Amino acid sequence: MMKNIGIIIETDNGKIKETNFGMITLARDNDTQLFAFVMDADARALKQDLESFGITNIIDVLLSPDQQNNPVIRAKAIINAIKEFNICAVFGLSTAIGKDLLPRIAALIEAPLVMDCFHVDLEQNLAKTSQYSGKTIATIKLTGEVLILGVRPNAIEPVKAQGPAQGSGQRLELKPDGTNLVSKGFRVIKTGEADKNANIDLVEADVIIAGGRGMKNGENFTLLSKCAEKLNAAVGASRVAVDSGWVPYAMQVGQTGEKVSPRVYIACGLSGSIQHFAGMKTAGMVIAINTDENAAIMSNCDYYVKADALEIIPELTKIL
Ligand SMILES: Cc1cc2nc3c(=O)[nH]c(=O)nc-3n(C[C@H](O)[C@H](O)[C@H](O)COP(=O)(O)OP(=O)(O)OC[C@H]3O[C@@H](n4cnc5c(N)ncnc54)[C@H](O)[C@@H]3O)c2cc1C
Repeated sequence: MMKNIGIIIETDNGKIKETNFGMITLARDNDTQLFAFVMDADARALKQDLESFGITNIIDVLLSPDQQNNPVIRAKAIINAIKEFNICAVFGLSTAIGKDLLPRIAALIEAPLVMDCFHVDLEQNLAKTSQYSGKTIATIKLTGEVLILGVRPNAIEPVKAQGPAQGSGQRLELKPDGTNLVSKGFRVIKTGEADKNANIDLVEADVIIAGGRGMKNGENFTLLSKCAEKLNAAVGASRVAVDSGWVPYAMQVGQTGEKVSPRVYIACGLSGSIQHFAGMKTAGMVIAINTDENAAIMSNCDYYVKADALEIIPELTKIL
C-alpha cells in the first residue's frame, strides 16, 4: 500500500538547505508518496527543487513569524499536518532545529523516535543509528502508527528522482487550527541573530576545518575562520579547545559534541582521540595537519601534512 511520508524541510533565508536533499532521497521509495512540510519560507519558491527530488505534495504550513519561532507551536502544526494528510512517517534533519522539534512531536503523539539515522527501511519499519560513540550500529524496530525519524545531515548522497519533475507536484496550504496551537509554559521572549562564531551550521557543513590544542590559543582560531571563508567551510574544535575557553561549546566535535559527516574534514593540531573520532568518523575524506607523525589522526586519515598548523594554514589561505 502507498505510504504517505512527511518531510520537514529546513530553509535558510528562503532557500532549501542542501542537506534536505539527502533526507528526501532516503525517504523516497516506489511505494511512498512524499509530502514536504515548509514552515518558514514561501513554498512556491522551493517547488521546483522539491519536485526534482520526487516530492509530490508541497505543504505550505502557514504560521505567523511568532509561531514559527516557537518549537512547541511548530510541533503542533506538524501534528496537524500528520492528521490532515494521513502521514505514517515523519522525516526531519538531526540538526539543532530538528533536535528541538522532532522529540517534541514524538512526545506529544507518543510516537517512536530515532535520531541521527543514516538508514531507514519503511517496509520493515527499521532505522539504523550509531551507538556507543560510533562503536556499534543499532538497527531499531519501530512500532507505532506514526514513526518519527531524525536523519543525520550529509549521511546520504542526494539523488534526483527519475521521471516527471517540473510541475509534477502540487502545492497546498495548511492553516493549522489556532486552538490547537497553544504553547503552555513555553514562550519565546526574544530572538536575535546567532553569534557567528557559534558556528551553528557545523553539522550541515560540506567541509569542516577543525582545530585542537595545537592551535595554542583562541586567537589562532581566526586563522581557521579565514581559511574556512575561502573554502565555504565551518570551523570545528576538539574538546581541549572548548574546555580551554578558546571557542564556544557549539563548535565541539566528538562524543560529547556534534556528530558531523562532511565531505572533507581538515583536522589541525588535534591528535585524533577516540572521543573526537566518535564525532567525525563518517567524514568522506580526512586531512590532518600535525607536527607529530605518530599522532593517531595521522594513521586514520586520507592525507596528512607533517607541519606546524600555525604556519601551514595561513599559507593555504593565501593559495586559496
Ligand atoms: C567522556 C569523554 C568525552 C570526551 N568527548 C570529547 C569530544 O566530544 N570531543 C573531543 O575532541 N574530545 C573529547 N574528549 C577528550 C579527548 O579524550 C581528548 O582529550 C581530546 O580530544 C584531545 O584534544 P586535542 O586533540 O585537541 O589535544 P591533544 O590530544 O593534546 O592533541 C594535540 C595535537 O596537536 C599537535 N600539535 C601541537 N602543536 C601543533 C602545531 N603547531 N601544529 C600542528 N599540530 C600541532 C600535537 O602533535 C597533538 O597531536 C572526551 C574525553 C572524555 C573522557
